[in-house]
Amino acid sequence: MYIENIKLKSKRMQINVLSERLKYRNDLLVQGLSNIQIETKHSFEKKINEKIYNFEDCDCFCGYRNDILLADRDWFGLYYPIVICKECGLIRANPRLDFLSYKEFYDNEYRKLYGEGDVEKNILWEQKVAQGQGVFDYIIPKLPSNIKVVYEIGCNMGSTLSVFKTENFEVAGVDFGSENIEYGRRISGIDDLFVGGIPELLKKKSEKSADLVILNHVFEHLLDLEKELLDIRSLLRPGGYLFISVPGTFWWIKNICKDNILGLLQNAHTFQFSLASLSYVLNCAGFEMVSGDETIRAIFRMDQKFRKRGSPPKNEYSRIIRYFKQEEAKYAFRLAVLNGIKNLLRKIKMYNYCKQLKEKMANLHNLF
Ligand SMILES: [Zn+2]
Repeated sequence: MYIENIKLKSKRMQINVLSERLKYRNDLLVQGLSNIQIETKHSFEKKINEKIYNFEDCDCFCGYRNDILLADRDWFGLYYPIVICKECGLIRANPRLDFLSYKEFYDNEYRKLYGEGDVEKNILWEQKVAQGQGVFDYIIPKLPSNIKVVYEIGCNMGSTLSVFKTENFEVAGVDFGSENIEYGRRISGIDDLFVGGIPELLKKKSEKSADLVILNHVFEHLLDLEKELLDIRSLLRPGGYLFISVPGTFWWIKNICKDNILGLLQNAHTFQFSLASLSYVLNCAGFEMVSGDETIRAIFRMDQKFRKRGSPPKNEYSRIIRYFKQEEAKYAFRLAVLNGIKNLLRKIKMYNYCKQLKEKMANLHNLF
C-alpha cells in the first residue's frame, strides 16, 4: 500500500508512539461515523492510493528536526503522523499532505468528513452565527473603539463576519470552500467573500488595511506559519490586531475530548499549540500578545519587536509530553476498569440484561 511506502521513507516512523491504539492500521474500523463520513473517508483514501493527494516532509518552525512521533492515525482512522519537537514543544503533522492536496481536500472532502455534510445548510448557518457572536463578544471589549475594517481568513460561510457587518464594521473574507463562499454571499449579503487564501484577499482589498484580522480555528490548518504571518502583516495597518483561536492542547484534551487524546488528532490539523508555543510562533513574526488563555483564544498586536527563533519556550516539550503520557495512562486505566466490569457481568450472566437496560435508558433520555 502507498501509505506503507511513505512510512518506510520517513526516518521518524521508527520512533515509538504513545500507545498501540494511536498507531495507523489500514484495516481499522472506526465506530460512530455517519454514511457521508464513511463515503468521504473512502474517497479521500482512494486519492492517496492513486497519488492524487501527496505527502511532503517539513522542518519544525524553530528550524530543528528533533522530533518524537506521538501518533500516526487520527480520529477517523486516517493516516496522520504527528510529531512533537523536543526543542520548542510545537506539535506538527509530518509528513503531511502538500499544498495542492490540502487545497483540493478543503474544497471536496473536509466539511463532509468533519460532519457538516450531515447538517442542513440553514441550520449550520444559524449555529455558526451564534459561534460568531461568541467571537465578537470576546474580541470587541478587549480592543480600542477605532476598529472599523475586519478581515477573516478561512471564513467558511462568512457567519462570523455577518455579526461584525450587523454592527457596522466593514468586512471581507476568504475560504477555499467554494460552495460555502457562494452560500455565504447569498445569505449574508456580504459581497467581499472570496474563494482562496490570503493572496486573494490582498489582491481584492489591497486599497484598505485591516484593523483586525480573524483566524478562527484556522491557524492549526496552515502549512507555512512564517509566510502566512508575513502576509497577515501586509493586510494589517501598523499596530493592528490579530485574533487567533485554536484547539489548545491542554484544554481541549480535558474539556472537549474528555481525556481521550485521540479526539485531538484530526488530519486537517497541520499544527497543534499550547498557549506558550503559539505565543512563541507569533512573537517570532513580530506579534505581541494582548490577551490569551489555554482554550486557546488569543489577541495579538502587530509590533516591530521580533523574538529570535533560537529562544523557544523553556521546558514546553517536557510539560506537553508529560501531560500526554499521563492522559494516555489514565485512558488505559479507565478502559481496563470498564473491561473488568464487562467481564464480571458476563461471568454472572448479567451482561446482556445490563446492555439492554442501558439502551432503554438512552431511548428514554432521547424522549426529553
Ligand atoms: Zn521546534
